[in-house]
Amino acid sequence: MVLAQLGGSISRALQQMSNATIIDEKVLNECLNEITRALLQSDVQFKLVRDMQTNIKKIVNLDDLAAGHNKRKIIQQAIFNELCKILDPGKPSFTPKKGKTSVVMFVGLQGSGKTTTCTKYAYYHQKKGWRPALVCADTFRAGAFDQLKQNATKAKIPFYGSYTESDPVKIAVEGVERFKKESCDLIIVDTSGRHKQEAALFEEMRQVSEATKPDLVIFVMDSSIGQAAFDQAQAFKQSVSVGAVIVTKMDGHAKGGGALSAVAATKSPVIFIGTGEHMDEFEVFDVKPFVSRLLG
Ligand code: GDP
Repeated sequence: MVLAQLGGSISRALQQMSNATIIDEKVLNECLNEITRALLQSDVQFKLVRDMQTNIKKIVNLDDLAAGHNKRKIIQQAIFNELCKILDPGKPSFTPKKGKTSVVMFVGLQGSGKTTTCTKYAYYHQKKGWRPALVCADTFRAGAFDQLKQNATKAKIPFYGSYTESDPVKIAVEGVERFKKESCDLIIVDTSGRHKQEAALFEEMRQVSEATKPDLVIFVMDSSIGQAAFDQAQAFKQSVSVGAVIVTKMDGHAKGGGALSAVAATKSPVIFIGTGEHMDEFEVFDVKPFVSRLLG
């Protein structure tokens, strides 16, 4: 279910409940079940939805509903608060500071949009007066360096990589050192992502992280991976200390639910979303407007 449809389904469920002459437990349950179905279809993880339903039942007081208060508003507010709570892990991610060197490492499965997102992130900061640089430590995928090089050249961002060196750790360390010397303040390391969550990928990621000591590890996730989001995010978190999430491909047929799962699994906030293939199709993520949009 795409974002706009989710809002519609929830509104309909609330409307049906409001139309009922008597709001008793049965009517409330029917409404919550409807909302649960809508959230599941939008790829929100089953456990998150179930917990949310339990919490809403605790918060929403049937007597208040029966007394003729605005029922829709009461339940809508409870859902809004619960969704915001899921998306807010309680602590902000490390935020790089302009003029002070930070190393940011990107991880994620192949095809998640990692390389594209590295450039978007660099470009976003460059426009704000930073001095970003890109390091391609993906020696696995043929063409990865060319892709990063092409993106970086287009955005006039310095880059580092190799056609011949096969050790990603060596490239990452060399690149980070070079750009530290050149006083870049945002050194972005793109790592390789394979199709499956193979142990080798995680080991390589761990080694790159250990060697470059990133200030922040960003997990890049494709919003269309559906219910697999939670397990995938958790697997990455268990290997490297993921500190923030970027959800890509939120344009088109994007489902919003994966974002909630990624936050729950990594206990890290979503900081940006990708909304297209172009360099500037990239937005700062803000919990409340996102949830408002989700609820329509
Ligand atoms: P990587 O293998 O994780 O490095 O993925 P890439 O950066 O090569 O991206 C895979 C594909 O997804 C490319 O065709 C990108 O143009 C596309 N892509 C990346 N981010 C977005 C996004 O936010 N929206 C859309 N529509 N496409 C995206």
